[in-house]
Amino acid sequence: MLTLNRRKIMVSAVAGATGIMTGRAIAQPAGMASAQTMPTRNAAFYRFQVGDIAATVLSDGLIGGPPTVYAGNAPEAELEEVLRRAFLPTDHMTLNLNTLLLEIGDRRILLEAGAGATMGPNGGRLFDNLGALGLTPDDIDVVVISHTHPDHVGNLRAADGSRAFPNATVMAPRADWSFFVENDPDLSYMPVPQDFQQRFAANIQRSVEPYVRDIELYEGGAEILSGLTTISASGHTPGMATFLVESGSDQLLLTADLAYHPIINIDRAWRPGPDRDQDQAAAARARIFDRAAAERMLVLGFHYPFPGLGRILRTDTGYAWVPANWEF
Ligand SMILES: [Zn+2]
Repeated sequence: MLTLNRRKIMVSAVAGATGIMTGRAIAQPAGMASAQTMPTRNAAFYRFQVGDIAATVLSDGLIGGPPTVYAGNAPEAELEEVLRRAFLPTDHMTLNLNTLLLEIGDRRILLEAGAGATMGPNGGRLFDNLGALGLTPDDIDVVVISHTHPDHVGNLRAADGSRAFPNATVMAPRADWSFFVENDPDLSYMPVPQDFQQRFAANIQRSVEPYVRDIELYEGGAEILSGLTTISASGHTPGMATFLVESGSDQLLLTADLAYHPIINIDRAWRPGPDRDQDQAAAARARIFDRAAAERMLVLGFHYPFPGLGRILRTDTGYAWVPANWEF
């Protein structure tokens, strides 16, 4: 009973925030996000197991933008051809928001907070999907963020400015916190209009504000919780980390934003335009993709088509994304 009531409150709070925020404060410029709110026809959570750890992909919905943003160095005609052959639109690329809930012992850990209302009208569905599992934001003990871009931290702030996850410790990479939160970031490297850059920076500040006093900062390359290790992947942002979940002989690798969409950043080696240090990001991609391929790891991509699980295959010319079969 209590669970249901709480869920209703959260869902209406999120719906309210979406209405207000997309209408005014953070409206998207044409082309940066789909203007229409999508209907919900299917459940958007996916349960699987990593050894003894119960894992659930929880969708926060969708974001998107011009494909040229996500494949920054692609020749335009070639990019269009690749999208056409994948039966994808050539003028807009849709990206998923695959957050992951881990239940390790009696603790619930959420990897990535999701976009909420910061990147268009189709984010913020995480709370609904938590509710579908019979959980509320109160049940989350830890939220670990791979990097502080708005689509990864947007849901941290509730509509009334309070903590959306009142009982959670929030962990973020130290170098990102310094770059985006403690300083005024120069985002002129991003291939988006200047007003978008300004909203992007403001949305980061706004989203993390309820947690600034007791944020836990981590360095890439350490086991931060039992069974959860960060792997440094700097380049996309100064501090981005990817995650390795391990239990027994089972492993799951989360690639954060090493790639936006497998079609353009794995099957083709085009570089994401928003990578701040292009060469460092490409080196991190190669290093981590090589490991994933060599160890035949199960991989979860934050922005890949839901539920975002598959494996990376080494080919003669690069890599190929092989989606995992659906498990019932
Ligand atoms: Zn992202």
